[in-house]
Amino acid sequence: MSALDSAVYPLVVKPLSSGCGEKEALTAKINLMDFDVEGLAQFLSTLGEKPYRALQILKWIHKRRVDNFAEMSDLSKKLRDQLSELCEIKPPSITNEQCSEDGTRKWLMKVDSKNYIETVFIPEPDRGTLCISSQVGCALNCSFCSTATQGFNRNLTVSEIIGQVWQAARRLSALKSEGEDTSHTITNVVMMGMGEPLLNFEAVKIAMAIMRDDNAYALPRRRVTLSTSGLVPMIERLNLECDVALAVSLHAPNNELRNVLVPINKKYPIALLMEACRRYARQDKRRKITMEYVMLKEVNDKPEHARQLANILQGIPCKVNLIPFNPFGGAKYERSTKDTIFTFRSILIRAGFITTVRKTRGDDIDAACGQLVGKVLDKTKRNARYLETLGRESVK
Ligand code: SAH
Repeated sequence: MSALDSAVYPLVVKPLSSGCGEKEALTAKINLMDFDVEGLAQFLSTLGEKPYRALQILKWIHKRRVDNFAEMSDLSKKLRDQLSELCEIKPPSITNEQCSEDGTRKWLMKVDSKNYIETVFIPEPDRGTLCISSQVGCALNCSFCSTATQGFNRNLTVSEIIGQVWQAARRLSALKSEGEDTSHTITNVVMMGMGEPLLNFEAVKIAMAIMRDDNAYALPRRRVTLSTSGLVPMIERLNLECDVALAVSLHAPNNELRNVLVPINKKYPIALLMEACRRYARQDKRRKITMEYVMLKEVNDKPEHARQLANILQGIPCKVNLIPFNPFGGAKYERSTKDTIFTFRSILIRAGFITTVRKTRGDDIDAACGQLVGKVLDKTKRNARYLETLGRESVK
């Protein structure tokens, strides 16, 4: 399936009418950010252009982050004019930016007149990780996640997903040229923001292809991570169609508990999920799946849970990432104590698993894991009120 298919790309590309060169009226411009290189080539062929043009345009958009066709100096004047008339390059717009004491940055991005998503950049000495959203809200209703409290509104399009990377990269290089102290380059992208990426597979797949493309963001396969709550059939598809790192939001070592924390477990229980992980890892011997495990006080953090976890993970090439729970208003859980997390980790390490504890970053700006809410369509005008509280749009 290509980006031109309407499931991903809602606009119909209308061919130019023959002979007189008049165009049929287009209802909206074609957003070239919705296309990977194949989609671009396919679109450009409708204009009678050769496939190599796709590479040039991809480079202009994603490597040089140009959004104005007039600047694309290696295209003919005729093509530039044609593209300006028919097309646009349109990412979501940055509506607000917050910067945490630890350097973490969170952007609120507007995707349409009523919907907003959040994107977070986490700088570390040796890397810069961008955490992006795949949906507005989320339908999966995990009981410890604040995105769930917003409900689900809609899937993001390719341009709304890759546009988060585009905007972040552009903003970070602007900061650099303004002389801010930054080691601010995006070296990793994780799909751990709002939404379940495997429920928006087609768009996510194209966006990830752009992240990986040498003429775009050129990220190596192990630096693009898709995180899923465990949609088993879609993990199989990911395995066949994409080459990226996989993280699984496991969070519980038995079905009884996981059914409560991650309700999709009722449909795809742990044994099926672990089998899918085994197959995913088998595809490439260098692959190690990240098992995410949120530490909830007196819920899933007992030594017996750690032992059960070590049991179900036997034979799967993986590492475990323990995530101290990040509280949010109305949450019914608390964070496990440091000692409990330490003991839990020791049991896993003794059982032979690489186990890390995620540092909580950006919690002073609610940018920590599981705190992204964005705003979803809400007839009570909550969005408008939310924007009022943020003040005027601060960053364009
Ligand atoms: N739907 C996908 C991706 C989004 S969640 C998934 O489930 O993997 C990204 C990560 O944040 C997941 O591991 C999720 O379980 C975790 N998370 C969600 N809420 C959290 C919270 N309140 N505290 C800590 N981690 C949380």
